[in-house]
Parts: sequence; C-alpha cells; structure tokens
Amino acid sequence: MERKKMQYPLTFKAAILREINKPLSVESVSFNGPLQPGQVMVRVFYSGICGKQIEEISGASGPDKFLPHMLGHEGSGIVLDIGPGVSKVAVGDKVVLHWVKSGGIDAPTPIYFQEGKRINAGWVTTFNEYAVVAENRMTKVPGDTNLSVACLLGCAVTTGIGVIINEARVKPGDSVAIFGCGGVGLNAIQGAVLVNAFPIIAVDKNPEALKLAKDFGATHCVLVKDQDPVISVKALTDGVGAEFVIITNSDIKGAEMAVEAGRIPGTVFFTGVPAKDSFFSIRPFAIHCQRSLLGSYGGGTVPERDIIRYLMLAQQKKIRLVELVSQRIKLEEVNEGIRCLTKGVPGRCVIDMS
Ligand SMILES: [Zn+2]
Repeated sequence: MERKKMQYPLTFKAAILREINKPLSVESVSFNGPLQPGQVMVRVFYSGICGKQIEEISGASGPDKFLPHMLGHEGSGIVLDIGPGVSKVAVGDKVVLHWVKSGGIDAPTPIYFQEGKRINAGWVTTFNEYAVVAENRMTKVPGDTNLSVACLLGCAVTTGIGVIINEARVKPGDSVAIFGCGGVGLNAIQGAVLVNAFPIIAVDKNPEALKLAKDFGATHCVLVKDQDPVISVKALTDGVGAEFVIITNSDIKGAEMAVEAGRIPGTVFFTGVPAKDSFFSIRPFAIHCQRSLLGSYGGGTVPERDIIRYLMLAQQKKIRLVELVSQRIKLEEVNEGIRCLTKGVPGRCVIDMS
C-alpha cells in the first residue's frame, strides 16, 4: 500500500531566539516544502538543552547575524518524509538528531516562515515540534529505542563518554578529574567507569550535582565551595594531579584552576563552550613539560558507530540514560529549562513534545 504523501505547508510550534539575552519565544512557524535533496522531515518528540544554546542565547560569541533563528542540537523523533537522494533513513524510522556530522548528504539548511517573514535554522534544530534536518545530522536507531532518553545521545552522552574513550583514550587505572557534573560531566564519569579509570574525581560547586556524580560512579567528590579543587585533586593523586582533566563548563576562572589540577605530563580536555573572545592564563613552563591542552569536538563521535553502541550498553545496564534526566518540561516552559541549566541544576532537562 502506498504511504500518504506529506502535505505542505506544515505549521508547528518552535522556540525562537529573536534577541540576544532575551527569553526564547514559542511561536508558530511554517515549512512550505518541498524538501531539498538530502533533507528529512522529522517529527521531533524530545530534545535536551545543552550549554551551547546558553552560549548562543547569551550572545557570548558576538553579534548573531542569523537572528531570528531556531535552536537545539540533541533530539529524537520519527521520520515523516524524505527529500530526493536520501538513502540513510526511511519514513517511519526512529532517529537521534545530532550536530556532529555523519554519513549521508550535507543538505542545505532549511528555511521556515512566519507570516511571510523568514526564520533561520541550522542543519539541525530540536526546540521545535517538527524539523527539516540534513540526512547527515541523524542516525537511525532500533525500533524498540526509548526516544524519551535517546535524545541525549545527540550530544551529552556522545560528548561525555566520547571524550574519555575516543579522544583521551583513558586506560584502566588512569586518574581522571571531571570539572562540572552536568549532562556532559556525568557522561564523562560513566565513560571513566566503563574503562576502569581510578580515581574518578568529580568537582562541582553544587552538592546535589556531586550526589548524582557519586551515583554515576565518581570515586571521589570535591565540593568547590568547601575545598580548594587543585589541592584536593592533588591529594587524591599522590600529590601529582590527575592524568586527564575534563572541563565541561565554560567558566574561565574555573578552567584556569582545573588545568592546574592536571598532572605534568598529562592532558586537559575542554568540552564546554567558552565565550569566543575570552582569554585565560596558563603556565607555559607546564606546556614545555608536556601538559597538553586539547579541545573536544563532540567527543570524537562517529554517530553511526557510537550511538548504536551506547544504546546497546544502556540495554546491558553498563551505562545509564534514564537517570540522566532530572527534569521534563513542555516546549512552552523552555525558558525555565534554560534557567535551570544556567543555575547548574544537576542532570539534563528534556523538552517533551510528544
Ligand atoms: Zn550540546
């Protein structure tokens, strides 16, 4: 039997950034169709909220020439329609939406409209009930996948576990200190547990976040308010510092401190998104002595390989996904979710549009 063809224009709700440093506004937008080569129409059911969006909203990286635009880069949903040339997914497939490129066509970014006025969007956006997403920003997942947590495989899980496994390549017995125990930090802890790192030191200013970090397998917790993190991490690593330091937040002062908690030689990874023009101080002598500072690019994730692997590990109870979600909100409450993330509320906030 032939499937009913999607009808355009399609009108739906989306959270829009109209002005820097202002709350997002949830409005109706339309996609007029047709889909371009490589574009896929997805009914987005769930989206996580990530630090990258806080950075975009705050305007930390300077003037935003794409305003007004849509947001969000980790999501999950079902494919409703495919454009010419799409071969990776078919109508009815469950998919995880991600910002890291995978195989398939790098389709043009979609254009949405509201009363004749253009609303911009990138290759993937997830703070919206429907999305036109490039084929290479999605991965098909098995039919029994729980989409209400699989959205986190779009960024938080893949970045956090990936920085440990793909980028740092932590080995059993390596010491790891994770600064910032939000969505990415908790997953870096899960990754460190998977490879039997020791000790796994969680550092945060929020005691609730540390409680969750302990739950996820941190062997030691350092509460910034009570303890000097550099002294504490060194005390837990025979006075030399952690072989791997993972910095998941964007706070520059905190980053300077985190770097100093690292061993020499050793490696520090930045997974957070700092303001584009911010600077911080380092000791060049430490660099000379082989302290490496590296950026994490989405945890070095290969989406088709890693997303499927992590789903399998979750099924085997080797990693936890459900427990990462601390809060579920409606799209209309998106600004509340953003406020929680800015305040450092532990775990990930998921927008439920199902
Ligand atoms: Zn992200």
